[in-house]
Amino acid sequence: LVIRAYRFPLRPTAAQRAAFWSWLRQCCTLYNAALEQRITAWKKYGRSIGYAEQCRGLTDLREETEWGDGPVTIQRSALRRVDRGFQNFFRRCKAGEKPGHPRYRAFDRYDSFGIGRASVEPAEREGGSGYVYVPKIGRVRFKQHRMMHGDVRDVTIRRDARGRWFVQISCDVGATPPMRVVRLDRTTGIDLGLTHFAVLADGTKIANPRHFKRSSEVLAQRQRALVQKKRGSRTRRRARTLVARTHEHIANQRLDFHRKTALALVRRFDLIAHEDLNIRGLAGGMLAKSVYDVGWGQFIRILHCKAEEAGVYVIPVDPRGTTQICSACGRTVPKTLYERVHLCECGLVLGRDHNAALMVHARGLRAVLPAQAPEASF
Ligand SMILES: [Zn+2]
Repeated sequence: LVIRAYRFPLRPTAAQRAAFWSWLRQCCTLYNAALEQRITAWKKYGRSIGYAEQCRGLTDLREETEWGDGPVTIQRSALRRVDRGFQNFFRRCKAGEKPGHPRYRAFDRYDSFGIGRASVEPAEREGGSGYVYVPKIGRVRFKQHRMMHGDVRDVTIRRDARGRWFVQISCDVGATPPMRVVRLDRTTGIDLGLTHFAVLADGTKIANPRHFKRSSEVLAQRQRALVQKKRGSRTRRRARTLVARTHEHIANQRLDFHRKTALALVRRFDLIAHEDLNIRGLAGGMLAKSVYDVGWGQFIRILHCKAEEAGVYVIPVDPRGTTQICSACGRTVPKTLYERVHLCECGLVLGRDHNAALMVHARGLRAVLPAQAPEASF
């Protein structure tokens, strides 16, 4: 059973957002009440209360009060969270660890609720709108920036610290091969750049193919020729066809290069971290970079596809600060766009892109370290 989690930005209407807030508040209240009930029962009577019993309690509450108007699936998700908290706690106790007891949560730290195996209507194309069916309010739109695979197992709605809403969809992707067991020496980070197509964490440079340059020279020459032709003439039409063909030729060459590069990476590595291009756009920078982003986006999509077929992890990471922060000591070493060398007080001297690739690699590894997983999987 392979579960893959997707996370997409939700686009709720004002009314839907209001409902989310009120349910989140209900869930938080319920979570704390359920926690208190378990603790009191244990302390006073030495009795342990389970999920099923708390669900019956919820049913009574719903019959007797206005809580009955809220969605029961969502309310139960708070009880289930308490239950999982205790299960994890006891499991870790048994394993001889000293885990923290499940704790009460303030509302600002209570940021998600589950809607179970909800019905999801995926977008027809990458970047399109998908819809998730939420109890009581119906379809809620989300922006689906990548395609989903597998059967929906579990859906969670979450808000972040800035009040934006996201939907997390866990899918069972039965048909894909098992993920490879990751060996540390088979992991890397990649920095996509202008001087080189990419630099890897071990310093390997992947050059932009020479034919890109040759083709774009040909393109420029043919475009100049086109401009000089007389409007409406036959030679002009011929010139225009030539320009179109050159564009197509370049696109094909690029696609081919992206495929080959992605395949080579997937063969060599079990885990590949890369800059999240969506965030990178916001990080600002040079115009040239935004122009190149189009090509990079294609490469990253291909990389994800090839990786999926091979059971390789491809992890997008927040790229902010990767060029400034020292990969050896964590100091910030400010540099302009034109400084190609990273030179730090700690003694580290590296190519700027190489340092960035190391930062991306480190962030990718941190993202998959199991130590952080239990809370996030709620
Ligand atoms: Zn340093």
